[in-house]
Amino acid sequence: MNMMNGKKGIVMGLANRFSIAYGISEQLFKNGATLAFTVASDYFKEKIKPIVAEQFGDGVIEICDVTTPGEIERAFTSIKKQIGTIDFIVHSIAFSDKNELKGMFVDTTRDNFLNTMNISVYSFIEVCKCSQDMFGDNGSIVALSYYGAEKVFPNYNVMGVAKSALESSVRYAASDLGKFGIRVNAISSGPIKTLAASGIGGYSKILGYTRDVTPLHKDVSLENVGNAAVFLLSDASAAITGETLYVDCGFNIMGMSHSACE
Ligand code: NAD
Repeated sequence: MNMMNGKKGIVMGLANRFSIAYGISEQLFKNGATLAFTVASDYFKEKIKPIVAEQFGDGVIEICDVTTPGEIERAFTSIKKQIGTIDFIVHSIAFSDKNELKGMFVDTTRDNFLNTMNISVYSFIEVCKCSQDMFGDNGSIVALSYYGAEKVFPNYNVMGVAKSALESSVRYAASDLGKFGIRVNAISSGPIKTLAASGIGGYSKILGYTRDVTPLHKDVSLENVGNAAVFLLSDASAAITGETLYVDCGFNIMGMSHSACE
């Protein structure tokens, strides 16, 4: 339980106790990490303040809407001033218009395509760019992906395209940043009931379906994803970079029938 002793880092995307960022923060904190947070708005800052105060050592919280140019760099600089150099960053941010997370993918609008890519992918690239000033000799960055990155998944639509771009960005960023001792990886999580996930058409059916077809026949928990993140952010994964780690009870190894979750 002390894999993160002495390590400090930033968790981006904690919205509430159901967030994947919450599950990751829980395991990081349990393992001895010092945490700072970035959130999308003042509204989210007020919402997570009591959670951070009660459960995560009253860490620093910075507002950082990733669509505002220069915000990531500003927030990171402010965090560095308060806690010094860091060892890890968790990018747990995505957004798309829920009206386009149903129906036909080809109906995706240009505006929503660009906004989805901006928030869910470009922000990650910017995080990687800014991280060089944040880390000491070593660093580890983790982003959150989903199976819809590689195979068509009903209703996931433009978010699937964004996750493909995210996983590819993980590989390119890992290639760039390795020389600075910075590792970059993704976790492809199975479905978990969160605020973002509730915007995806038919999501409750997806949960039931994946439980039925996975080899382990169970839901993925926040704790499962949190423990995988601890591994990727700790020295235990010191030789791993540019990879996507599946935390999905084996869903990705199974064939799937569309009709089952439509
Ligand atoms: P969530 O709603 O709890 O988290 C999404 C976060 O993105 C929120 O904190 C939200 O404020 C933030 N965000 C959105 N727009 C932003 C902006 N402009 N600036 C800053 N932050 C912004 O949902 P979650 O499911 O925990 O999502 C976290 C990550 O996990 C996402 O990348 C998501 O795609 C991924 N993921 C989720 C599942 C799942 O089933 N829930 C599965 C695989 C991957």
